[in-house]
Amino acid sequence: KRTLLIAGNWKMNKDLAEGAKLASELVAALPEIPEGVEALVCPPTIDLKYVGCHGGILASPIKLGAQNVHWELSGAYTGETSVPMLASLPVAYCIIGHSERREYFHETDEDQNRKARALVAGGIVPIFCCGEPESIREDGTYVDYVCAQVKAGLEGLELTSPDQLVVAYEPIWAIGTGKTATAEDAQEVCAAVRSQLAEIFGQEMADGIRVLYGGSAKPGNIAELVAKPDVDGALVGGASLSAEDFSAMVMKA
Ligand code: 13P
Repeated sequence: KRTLLIAGNWKMNKDLAEGAKLASELVAALPEIPEGVEALVCPPTIDLKYVGCHGGILASPIKLGAQNVHWELSGAYTGETSVPMLASLPVAYCIIGHSERREYFHETDEDQNRKARALVAGGIVPIFCCGEPESIREDGTYVDYVCAQVKAGLEGLELTSPDQLVVAYEPIWAIGTGKTATAEDAQEVCAAVRSQLAEIFGQEMADGIRVLYGGSAKPGNIAELVAKPDVDGALVGGASLSAEDFSAMVMKA
């Protein structure tokens, strides 16, 4: 079985002091990560260094990740952060294509494709998010919708190892709503994502790429989700803001 990944997306929460406090609590709660599981926290960009250093994440078994990145190496892109900047911390993972970025900041699949290439070239693992809105779920075309996002977002990416990419399936109707997809729903789409990855990268590579589920994942449903053959962990929003809940998820996965 692939190494499970439990990834916390703090979104736009926690200032420096709060972020360092949560990080210290996580480090204390997770002195060891169970065999076969990887734990990751993705704080806001401005908190990364403080959480990583003062909060102790970089000296712990918990990995550090970012929530967004620009695809150019440097230049006149006010307000943006580059791959080399993240890599210099060092950051191991970076979320891209979250539905909140697609919706509120009008990011496209083409943007994700550029970001994914830049990250892989810079040695950071993209966590590429995909997922359908409620209307697409209801009309029944969600598998095609999600696979089209995966194809457009990742086609042309060159991988030498499956560890260089993670995909997170996050149905928009399940994000922050408390309305978790059933483990069967998650499995259905994660398996379809893997088939799409096989078309792009070949079956062997696709068999090694982690596909996560996200959307109201919590301590009470994590075991059932990761018991499914194609669900390799979770991208966790709300529950990642509590050291107790997040560490419980890592231990139960
Ligand atoms: P919630 O866990 O709060 O539903 O958020 C999921 C998510 O968007 C993680 O990226």
